[in-house]
This record gives sequence, structure tokens and C-alpha cells, in this order.
Amino acid sequence: MRTRAPIVDQHATWIAVNPVQGCPKACAYCFLNERGQVAVRPEHLATPEDTVSALVASPFYAPDRPVALYTWTDVMALPASRAHLARLLEVIADEELPNPVVLITKCHVPDETLAAINAARRRGVAMIVYLSYSGLGRDIERGIRHTAITDNFPRLAADGVPVVHYWRPAFPESATTSTMEHVLDWAAQYARCTVAAGLKVEPGALPRLAGIWPELAATEGVTEAEGVYPRAFWEFIHHTSKRHPDYPLFHTNSCALAYILGRADAFGVYRSTVCRVRNHCPAGQRQLCRDADNSRQPLTRALVRSALAQRDLADAPFRLDVQERELVISAPVETSRVAALTQDLGIRVRVDRADTDSYWNSGTAGALPLIIG
Ligand code: SF4
Repeated sequence: MRTRAPIVDQHATWIAVNPVQGCPKACAYCFLNERGQVAVRPEHLATPEDTVSALVASPFYAPDRPVALYTWTDVMALPASRAHLARLLEVIADEELPNPVVLITKCHVPDETLAAINAARRRGVAMIVYLSYSGLGRDIERGIRHTAITDNFPRLAADGVPVVHYWRPAFPESATTSTMEHVLDWAAQYARCTVAAGLKVEPGALPRLAGIWPELAATEGVTEAEGVYPRAFWEFIHHTSKRHPDYPLFHTNSCALAYILGRADAFGVYRSTVCRVRNHCPAGQRQLCRDADNSRQPLTRALVRSALAQRDLADAPFRLDVQERELVISAPVETSRVAALTQDLGIRVRVDRADTDSYWNSGTAGALPLIIG
């Protein structure tokens, strides 16, 4: 049975906008498998005009927040989806929405769609294209032409489109030195930065994913982890600066977007372990985040209480660590509201998990990475 997502929702980093749902491809690791939304014809659930109306009416909407379009399909896969995108970008430009707009694909970006992206950029839309490229084979990324992925990099870069290399997930088959070096060397030539992430393992997906990576079934905690990593991949992505000293690599989408947009961190990542130890972040960006952190108003319990009330959490008990800029809410709250609160307050927000929340195991909610091998 096909499960549908809301047309507008808040994910850990961005507002996800999904007027077209369902993917004709069938990547073995995709979360859409559990939702009956792979190897299907995409459904068009809202016109571009209605989509923009729903976006600006959403309680998650604010003009500075990143918006990711079509996260429940690969919008580049079919002509009808691409036509929807082209019109949606026109409407976003007509309405002069100032939000950064993210597209994510692992399919060929045809010339006419690249032209639509460039037209939106000329009209002031801050477009960022994530190119998924992980060095996986067609046995795992079924229906994907890998030369189409790699060809996108120089084509988009030549037009000045800000490209993020999205490197996720890794399986043991792609965690070999030669594959990882090949992937990184190619991306570093054309992308502004890489975002590396592990494999998300939902409980229902575990038997299927263990068919590809048997150790998953024998390892405790894989379904609670923020992401699962083969050890060789984990080691490699934390030492890329040796090979490409000036090429940034982030483990947090919010930092990649901050870097590309020339903004300071607004997700409470600054000074965290991910910031200090894991992200390979340029000195200029670090200075930007440091300056913003130094000039922030001190947070008070009254400010937090007011922000919680705005998100319908007026009575939620909480603990505030002013020094560490961390808020811990002692009540189950969905990731969408946690992510919104994170941005409302500009601090880290941790929370007890909500059992009904399929997105709960994100780094934003405090889950930890798990390394196998
Ligand atoms: S300084 Fe830290 S928080 Fe700021 S963008 Fe870099 S890694 Fe992220």
C-alpha cells in the first residue's frame, strides 16, 4: 500500500515539499521501500500554484528557512515530474520567496531542466543541487545510470550552480579505498562541498538491508542509530583533508547549507562535537559561526518557554544549558517540531523520542552514529 507524506513538512534541516510522490527507481536502501513508493509511477498531488500556497501557509514556514523540493521522488526521473518542477520554480520566483531551494537527485539533469534551474537563479532564487553519488553498483541503486550521476557534476558546475555532493549511504561494497578515492576526487573537482551520512535503518527495513549487509542483523542498535557506517568509510570521511585540504566535508546538511549560503550556523551545531571534531569546515566559515555565536543574545528560560508555547508545547518540562546552548525537552515531541524549535532558538534541542515519528532517529534528535567493522 502506498503511504503518502504531507505536501509540506519540516525535516531535520529543511522544510520538505512533496507535491509529487513515488519514485520509478528502486534503490535498495531507500526509505520509500517501506512506504510502497518505489518502482511506482509518481502521483501528482498538488499543482505548483497550490504547492506554494501550502508552503507559505505552513506553521513551519519562515522566509529564511531552506526548502527541499520532491524528497519523496527523484524529480529528474520522468518528464512529467520535471515539468512540475519547472513550473514550481517559476511560481517560487513569481512569488519572490527568499528561501534557499534544494533539489536532490541521482538521475541525469536534462539541459531543459538545467535551463529552468538557471532561469530561477537569474530571478533571485537561491538554488542548491545535491548530487547523490556514493559509488554503489546497479545491484543496490536499481534503475540508476551511474554515468548520468557523474556527468551532472561538471555540467552543473560549468553553469555556476552550487552543487553539494551527497555521499550516502555506504555499504561494505562501496567502502573500498579505490572506490572512495574515486568518488571523492571526482566530487572535489566540481562540488562546493560533500555531505557524508550513514545508512538509516528503520526496523521494517532491517531484513531487506541485511540481505545486502549481513552484519546489520547481528549488530545491536542499528535501528536506533543516527546512521550506520562501515568502519572503512567512517575512517575515510574523517580524513579527507589529507587528500583535499581545501575541500570541505560536512556531516550535517545544515552546515553545508550555511557554508554555501554564507550564513552562520542556525541549528545549534556550532561548538558541538560534530562541529569541532568531525566536520572539515573552512576557517572563514568557522569565523562566521564564531562571530555570530559571540554576538547572540543570552538565552533565558522565559525566551524558551515562549518559543515552546509558539510550537504548542507550553507545558513541556525542559532543561536549559545556557553555556552549551542546549535545550532538553522531557516529553515526546516529533522531529518536525524539534527541528523548527532548533531554528526558532538557534540552539541544539534534544528530546525524548516519539514512537510514532518515523524521522525520530536523526542527529538533531540526539541519536548517535554506529560503526561496524
Ligand atoms: S563552524 Fe561548525 S557549526 Fe559552523 S558551519 Fe562549520 S562545522 Fe558547522
